Amino acid sequence: MSDKIVILTGAGISAESGLGTFRDEGGLWAQHRIEDVATPEGFARDPILVHEFYNARRAQAAKAQPNAGHQALAQLAAQHPGEVVVITQNVDDLHEKAGSQGVIHMHGTLSGALCSACGHRWQAALAMQPQDSCPHCAGTTTRPDVVWFGEIPYAMQTIETHLAEADLFVSIGTSAQVYPAANFVQAAAAAGARTLEFNLEPSAMATRFDDCRYGPASKTLPRWVAEILG
Ligand SMILES: [Zn+2]
Repeated sequence: MSDKIVILTGAGISAESGLGTFRDEGGLWAQHRIEDVATPEGFARDPILVHEFYNARRAQAAKAQPNAGHQALAQLAAQHPGEVVVITQNVDDLHEKAGSQGVIHMHGTLSGALCSACGHRWQAALAMQPQDSCPHCAGTTTRPDVVWFGEIPYAMQTIETHLAEADLFVSIGTSAQVYPAANFVQAAAAAGARTLEFNLEPSAMATRFDDCRYGPASKTLPRWVAEILG
């Protein structure tokens, strides 16, 4: 089979590598409100707090290791005769650490810095500060290159094209409640793709998938990839 496989990954696959999310009890997110640390308004109110929050996440992600789920997807891309596209909502680089290439980070990356004045992007320092200046325009208008609530995710046109070309769409470890990612399964299905969900438990969108597999991605993905690769 040289089918085109389009994969969307979410927080669930990184959680198994120890990186939490705002939906988890405990951890980094539990100490903050989403509107304070993950919105443009929160950043405008208190840039020091927001930088400190992302600095802590960046340090945590730098130490995290990919798990068997990330590795299975990298193996799939390397050995499947057709195209494999990985789109992730995650801002860590665990797919890349596992060997995946060309990963589309629709919510940006912790490793990136962005100038909100001129749009220039560069490699983020491990610890960013509000007074950091943009290497392009010299403005002290630097922010983490992550997409916050209320902002438009990156690469949406590219993603739409991939979804329209998909033979198989796979959603992994995402609650599927955050738009526009929640619409991807419908877009892929409308274009004729089969759809498959991997999650710890059925998501809010589970009934829209042709097939679902439940359990930790580090267990379910290696099994599935072995089936696909035969
Ligand atoms: Zn700039």
